[in-house]
Amino acid sequence: MKKRSVSDSMARMRSNKAAMVVGFIALLAVYLVMAGMAMRISMSDEILMIMGTPTPVRSFAGAFSSAANLCVILLVVFYAKSGFIMSLVLMLAQIPNLMAGIFARHIFTNISGLCTSIFAIITVIMIYVKNNRIEKYQDKLRSQAITDTLTGIPNRFACTELIEGLIRQRGRFAVVSINLNNFKNINNTMGVKTGNAVLCEIASRLQKAADEGHSGTDEFVTRQSGDEFTIIIHNYPNVKELLRTLQYYKGVLEKKMTVDDCDYFLSFSMGYAEYPTDAGTVDEVLSHASLAMIEAKRQASGARVLRYDPSMSDAERTLQMERKIRHALENDTFFFRLQPQYDVNHMLIGFEALARMKDESGKMVSPGEFIPVAEETGLIDQIDSVIFRKSADFFGQLIRKTRTDITLSVNVSVKHLMKNDFLDEVREILSTYQLPPEQIEIEITESVMIDSVEKALECINEIKKMGIKIAIDDFGTGYSSLSYLNNFPADVLKIDKAFIDQMNMSDSSRKYVASIISIGHIMNFKVISEGVEEDAQLDTLRSIGCDYIQGFIWGRPLPPKEAEEVVMESA
Ligand code: C2E
Ligand code: MG
Ligand code: MG
Repeated sequence: MKKRSVSDSMARMRSNKAAMVVGFIALLAVYLVMAGMAMRISMSDEILMIMGTPTPVRSFAGAFSSAANLCVILLVVFYAKSGFIMSLVLMLAQIPNLMAGIFARHIFTNISGLCTSIFAIITVIMIYVKNNRIEKYQDKLRSQAITDTLTGIPNRFACTELIEGLIRQRGRFAVVSINLNNFKNINNTMGVKTGNAVLCEIASRLQKAADEGHSGTDEFVTRQSGDEFTIIIHNYPNVKELLRTLQYYKGVLEKKMTVDDCDYFLSFSMGYAEYPTDAGTVDEVLSHASLAMIEAKRQASGARVLRYDPSMSDAERTLQMERKIRHALENDTFFFRLQPQYDVNHMLIGFEALARMKDESGKMVSPGEFIPVAEETGLIDQIDSVIFRKSADFFGQLIRKTRTDITLSVNVSVKHLMKNDFLDEVREILSTYQLPPEQIEIEITESVMIDSVEKALECINEIKKMGIKIAIDDFGTGYSSLSYLNNFPADVLKIDKAFIDQMNMSDSSRKYVASIISIGHIMNFKVISEGVEEDAQLDTLRSIGCDYIQGFIWGRPLPPKEAEEVVMESA
């Protein structure tokens, strides 16, 4: 493949040669029949009676001759050079015959046939010249579309088309992503012009290596963008050969490079993914190769070439989510929903504020996706604060407007709680939004009792002193010991939805939930069940003494305005 031009190989993939050949032969056959008929008829002296009028058969020759001319025109239009040559040969071959008819046998009706043929030849030449120009222009456009303007090697479109072709052939191949390390430094210190010259030199080395074919495999070199190049490698018997080719290219690239009288010793990060083992589509194989390259760069494993591994996608997903969270924080696009909480008689007792976010394109991102990443990356405290502040602002106004005595619950991550300035932040929010502390509840997950109970206890005791309530969220999912629970100054236990889902499946599950409720009551906690969706669950919870209910059965998380209406209705 490397010896052929890109447009050649693309055209080869698309053309359906067999159909073209059949079409060519059919046109030729029709032409020969029509021209033969025209010739025969033009020499006939027969007279036909058509609707009582005597008509010379010869007068039909023109119709057959026009049909023959149409065939040659179609040949030129559809078969470019070969069609043009064939048409010329066919039409020129008619001329001696027509001339002989006129001069030797004095068939003067042939004069019109001769003129028609001459005009047809001129038309065919004009069509060919015009077509040729258009085709050259189209070729130029096609080649521009698939050529990288800076380096002159095939670009990402060519790369995508080639991969599509290889996937259609169901072959095994590897896509290698190559990125120059610290290219920014060259651009910043030596200027963009030198940077471009370095990129051109890299492209030319890669192209030369592919053309020379010393590697033993077939390669196709492209530039994606910036300093990212892609090589598609196929026709290799095993991964060992593939790796040898990769090392060969690495060697070619890392040889001393002299640009504008300056010597450079550049290093590259390389990653690859194989089709069909590592990816099943064009996008996948390209992005997986790119992920492997990013990982190679991250590990600063200059000497290594990394193969794609599914864990790299997780890392990339986390990275992308982190970017979305930062973007939402910077643009203040986090908002909250309020899910109502009721007692078992359906009296409103409060709302839980739940964080919501949209990405740059306005698409909702579920908390199940962004909360774990926010926790992992340490951004959770900023989200907690935003949601606390925004919901506190709304809730303060709601209390002043409606005089309601319900509670606002906010989620606080353990990491956030442990921060030294957490207590000051809570005090500041209470005073800014004029909130009575006894109407605020802070939900902390059960894990707080396992990881960091001593330090957390100090802080929680302070919060309690302020008058704020504490709820232990998602209770039952962690492995906290009962002795910790005994010492824990909580007010509310929230039973996780997972237990409510299971509760009516078996007698033991129901007893399990019943015993959590009993333990909660022994410790003097109120118990609330999360994720209640069905009447049967509600009935069971009532029968085993649960205090409060939160779930879609009585209320989904609501926008503030709708939450206000719920308060008004319940008053
Ligand atoms: P959580 O604190 O346990 O919140 C309850 C979750 O259960 C919410 O999910 C709520 O929408 C969902 N839920 C309630 N009732 C039902 C029901 O009947 N059926 C179903 N299928 N789901 C129900 P959401 O809003 O997706 O939040 C997920 C988790 O994200 C929360 O679990 C909480 O741990 C965390 N979270 C949400 N907002 C914040 C926040 O501002 N800060 C922190 N640190 N975590 C938050
Ligand atoms: Mg919660
Ligand atoms: Mg929960």
